[in-house]
Amino acid sequence: MAEYIIETTKGKWEVVVGLEIHCQIISKSKIFSSASTEFGDDPNVNVSFVDAGMPGMLPTLNKECVHQAVKTGLGLNAKINKYSEFSRKNYFYADMPTDYQITQFRYPIVGEGEIFVDLSDGSTKKIGIERMHIEQDAGKSIHDLNPTKSYIDLNRAGVGLMEIVTKPDFRSPEEAGAFLRKLRSILRYLGTCDGNMDEGSMRCDVNVSVRPVGSDELRTRCEMKNVNSVKFVMQAIESEAKRHIEVYENGGTIEQETRQFDPTTGQSKVMRKKEFAHDYRYFPEPDLPPLVLTDEYIEAVKAEMIELPDAKKQRFIETMGLTPYDAMVLCENKENAEFFEKAAAGHDAKKVANWMMSDFFAMLNKKRLDITQSPVSAENLGRLVELISTEVISGKIAKDVFEIMSETGENPEKIVEEKGLKQVTDTGAIETIIDTVIASNPDNVTAYKNGKTNLAGWFVGQVIKMSQGKANPAIVNKLVREKLDK
Ligand code: MN
Repeated sequence: MAEYIIETTKGKWEVVVGLEIHCQIISKSKIFSSASTEFGDDPNVNVSFVDAGMPGMLPTLNKECVHQAVKTGLGLNAKINKYSEFSRKNYFYADMPTDYQITQFRYPIVGEGEIFVDLSDGSTKKIGIERMHIEQDAGKSIHDLNPTKSYIDLNRAGVGLMEIVTKPDFRSPEEAGAFLRKLRSILRYLGTCDGNMDEGSMRCDVNVSVRPVGSDELRTRCEMKNVNSVKFVMQAIESEAKRHIEVYENGGTIEQETRQFDPTTGQSKVMRKKEFAHDYRYFPEPDLPPLVLTDEYIEAVKAEMIELPDAKKQRFIETMGLTPYDAMVLCENKENAEFFEKAAAGHDAKKVANWMMSDFFAMLNKKRLDITQSPVSAENLGRLVELISTEVISGKIAKDVFEIMSETGENPEKIVEEKGLKQVTDTGAIETIIDTVIASNPDNVTAYKNGKTNLAGWFVGQVIKMSQGKANPAIVNKLVREKLDK
């Protein structure tokens, strides 16, 4: 595994990172009320009396949020706790009218689990999950609409969250980035969170500390709150690690504090120090009973589980002949994997994968289209590959056919038929062209016979050009050499 070591003139350092990720649960209504979770509606339209913290209102746990959390726990290969309970986390914030958040503290719904991440050197690393609990989100404060006023939007207040806490298992920015991409991929496969970090439906807190290489101590960590992209998480780890090292090497100490990473400067600044840390006065939520799940319930959710990226990747490698890299790229996104399987059905899977990862993805990129909007259907991509495999067209002609397919959405057989693009495998027709080329280039024929044998390639090129790309290259190659060697 590629090691990430920060070396200075004074020593070698290793970084130790743990992540806490808040993931918004996909559900129609909020976790403790029936208000809608719709994103992007007018402010304060999706607010029930419960979300607004009206006196006397009581929370009711949303079954669907529990279902989604259990599914996610299973997707993280984690222990599902049959007993969990809700707690109040007390603090004041203007966008939280109850002055407390209902969360889980002592007994979370999901216990220890693990995720495997794929690294750029081809290796795989296991990352431990410490726990996952469910809780409600706060509303939103908007400070930049008016110079003297702040506005509050409670649409988000009460939306269900899953808070996933990892073990401090990351040793590089790359590992943290790979983990977040893998986690997002799993959540999207499961349909339990949309994983859109830029919309705030997945928010990452990053805990960073450093230690001398070879030591296994855990030094004081600093936490960077709500970093909102994979790239920024990686940058935040790098800059924070460097800051710690500089402090230590200058004889200073790191204080435990909460910091804010600013992507424009690439630096973090302090938000609050430990002595101002909150005392949340957690206590069991009196308005909700403990959450008790039965074995039958957990088994029923297990039975619903679909094939997740790791299992799919393994299957693509073992039964479809893909390389680990191809399989990883195609399985990261469920829609891509499904498209691939449809396209590869009955055709050369490796060739289909190559087409998808080159011309096909390039076409979608260029047209700024999502795979679900592709003008080239999976079936038609499979047919195109079949035309190449059966030598009806050459790989070169296939690129032209693909170009037409991506404009018209037509099926490749029809295009080949209409445009007369069928490969010429008739040796008689090819021989005629070769004879013409040989007859009109006597100097090169002489040069070839005098030892410049690499001129054969030039003859092949001329013949294919004269056939307008339709002559089968393998046949041309064979016949050109035969005729020149005569
Ligand atoms: Mn939380």
